[in-house]
Amino acid sequence: MVSESSIEMIRSWLNQCEKDHLPCLQSAAWIHKHSKAPTRLLDVRLVKENWVRLIDTPGQAKEYVALSYCWDKEPPILVTTTETYRRMLAGVSCRLLSRSVQDAITVVKKLGIRYLWVDALCIKQNDREDWNFEAQNMGLIYANAYLTIAATSAKCGSEGFLSARSCNELTTGFRASPRATDQGTVHWRSYPDIVCDYDKDVEDSSLLSRGWVKQERLFSRRTVDFCRKRTYLQCRSSACCEGVKLEIERFNGYEFVLSLHLLSMLQEEIW
Ligand SMILES: [Zn+2]
Repeated sequence: MVSESSIEMIRSWLNQCEKDHLPCLQSAAWIHKHSKAPTRLLDVRLVKENWVRLIDTPGQAKEYVALSYCWDKEPPILVTTTETYRRMLAGVSCRLLSRSVQDAITVVKKLGIRYLWVDALCIKQNDREDWNFEAQNMGLIYANAYLTIAATSAKCGSEGFLSARSCNELTTGFRASPRATDQGTVHWRSYPDIVCDYDKDVEDSSLLSRGWVKQERLFSRRTVDFCRKRTYLQCRSSACCEGVKLEIERFNGYEFVLSLHLLSMLQEEIW
């Protein structure tokens, strides 16, 4: 599960990024001008509870989240192929999808976003032509996503990244004074749970040992890392850890310029 305080934190951080971060706003404007929606997206907002469906998005701009994760190719996990494509368009139960995809759907829904991009479901896995075409667009798919969710704590897709969290959080209510009507909620954490170690939690994770994941992160405008004990957020202007603002400057400037350069190269190849 994901706590309401984590979702609140992600929401407020996204709002701040959209409102105050000039490099992020410049990057978003550049990307919107030069890119389009992925060929397919997963619609997570269906009337039928815990069901999702694949949609084609011919030329339509959509706000979506992209998932960065390790996944298993072994059955019984449902992926999109030429055989399952029509079934995916009609809608499937989330229970048939990998645990990490189910967790990503949970977070996306809680953030109030409707669409999710997952490689195993948005690319026909046994169609070489489809795969080659989508692989060419991969950088733009991550760059154009409103947010990238990284399943950083999960070593494989069946593990999930929310169930693996060992966050010792205790939530209590409070009132300003016995007579006051103002009430609120306090989220308590033990001290070791709020000490951030980005290198250990993220840089040394098995997810980041994959080369393609590093590319996905480089292109992403904003990434939220779900680690075992805490959540990290980073954009082109700043980074923060659940409960602590880190003010990491290393994401500013260099990666932004490099990403734009790579996007320009991709653009020349595609168009
Ligand atoms: Zn930002």
